[in-house]
Amino acid sequence: MKKLCALVMILLVMACTPCHGQKDICIVGSGMGGASVAYFLKEYAQAPLQISIFEQSDRVGGRMSLVELEGDTFEAGGSVIHPKNLHSLKFTELLGLNRTTGDDDDSFGIWDGTQFVFQTARAGDSIFSKTFTQIMNTLSIMWRYGLSLWKMQTYTNGMLDNFMQIYKDDRPAFDTVEELLKSVDLYNRTQYTLEELLLEAGLSRLLIDELITVTMRINYGQNVSISGMAGAVSIAGSQGGLWAVVGGNWQLADGLIRHTNASLSLNHKVVSVTAVEEKYELAFEQGTATCDVVVMATPLDESKITFIPSVNLLKRHMQHTYTTFVRGLLNPI
Ligand SMILES: Cc1cc2nc3c(=O)[nH]c(=O)nc-3n(C[C@H](O)[C@H](O)[C@H](O)COP(=O)(O)OP(=O)(O)OC[C@H]3O[C@@H](n4cnc5c(N)ncnc54)[C@H](O)[C@@H]3O)c2cc1C
Repeated sequence: MKKLCALVMILLVMACTPCHGQKDICIVGSGMGGASVAYFLKEYAQAPLQISIFEQSDRVGGRMSLVELEGDTFEAGGSVIHPKNLHSLKFTELLGLNRTTGDDDDSFGIWDGTQFVFQTARAGDSIFSKTFTQIMNTLSIMWRYGLSLWKMQTYTNGMLDNFMQIYKDDRPAFDTVEELLKSVDLYNRTQYTLEELLLEAGLSRLLIDELITVTMRINYGQNVSISGMAGAVSIAGSQGGLWAVVGGNWQLADGLIRHTNASLSLNHKVVSVTAVEEKYELAFEQGTATCDVVVMATPLDESKITFIPSVNLLKRHMQHTYTTFVRGLLNPI
């Protein structure tokens, strides 16, 4: 499984001169964050804007990336979108893109390193077989995990209900991610591990050690010591109704950038951002650009961009995930 949502965008609005006349906005990064910022700025800005997007790579989309292998393409990053991701739903419709749903074969097995501790059945092609297998699989999952399954859904849906408040039209703006999370009552979940919160919610050890641990491993390469908030996002990413854009989710970023008429400069790696009087100067490996406002739409943790004057960044430990693409046929038995 490959999820998200943590659609995490680090965005620093560095400066805004008094709002009269045209504003030159520079956005660093053409991923979903940069493209969405371009869209929302155009949508809500009171003043006329000239938006320029600078992207270090030769394509847009950032972590919604495609890998091409032997003539086939595979989504290597943000590949599935949660049904409650209302912005992506809206963008897909606005851009006239088509949605696909995932593979409807959701059979699975849990391997503990030596044996399968649990396995669901695989359906045949007929509708009868699919329906019958689905019922049998649901019953066998309920038999093994009991009420804990319901408690897991309650825990995850609680996070989603709070999260949905960010779509309210009258929400204020926030200076920090902490403030945003506090305003929708999700901050507390970042202060405890998923394991602690699930045990408190009354889930059984069996469900945590099997289904939940497997979900964390698949999504983030981690275990239940992940934060309760990230864990809930990960569980939400294993719910039903996930979808994707036919041809690749990167088209959302591509379409929004075109829709806003932003100028896009690929192969432009920003190396420094310098405050010069009331403006900001971006330096690339070759050349510079000057803007009234700079939006950093890329994680700054590991980027080597120099800020003058310097910007205080919270030190975070990033989890590196390595992916190997293997071409072959799976033998499910
Ligand atoms: C393996 C993987 C699987 C995922 N699966 C899912 C999923 O299934 N569903 C889901 O919703 N989310 C998923 N995510 C998360 C989602 O893809 C990201 O949260 C989202 O794409 C981040 O968008 P962004 O614009 O904030 O950052 P990015 O996509 O990282 O965009 C930042 C852009 O900035 C550019 N950049 C960086 N430094 C510079 C510089 N100095 N100068 C110019 N440009 C620069 C980068 O090249 C990049 O294009 C996944 C992420 C990964 C890595």
